[in-house]
Amino acid sequence: MEENCIFCKIINKEIPSTIVAENGEAIAFKTIKPIAEHHILIAPKTHIKAFVDLKNEHKDIFMDMINLAIKVIEENGISDGYKLAMNGGKYQSVPHLHWHILAGKLEDEDDILNQT
Ligand code: 5GP
Ligand code: ZN
Repeated sequence: MEENCIFCKIINKEIPSTIVAENGEAIAFKTIKPIAEHHILIAPKTHIKAFVDLKNEHKDIFMDMINLAIKVIEENGISDGYKLAMNGGKYQSVPHLHWHILAGKLEDEDDILNQT
């Protein structure tokens, strides 16, 4: 738990969010600002700042994030079309590691995610 971290507060249920699934080490919740029809965030329950901060000791956490992402993709019926995105550095606005699961119609068809 990191003081002043919005995602830690969501994980601790100190601020409301729409949690869609969770397992031992990871949580899936809806973003407040969806850019696609399906836009769900996958985050570790432990405060890890960014992808580049992952260490060997985080293996179990990382596996739980992977398993939860697969579950969310399957349960949303989007296995035939999804994007798994992760921002870092200046592109990451919340400094608590997370993945974006995106599917369905994008708000902005010219978005960079459409060109990758
Ligand atoms: P980033 O730019 O760090 O990759 O993405 C941050 C994500 O967190 C965005 O999708 C943004 O809408 C979402 N977000 C920021 N603050 C909150 C919040 O208070 N609640 C929820 N549910 N999502 C948030
Ligand atoms: Zn945090």
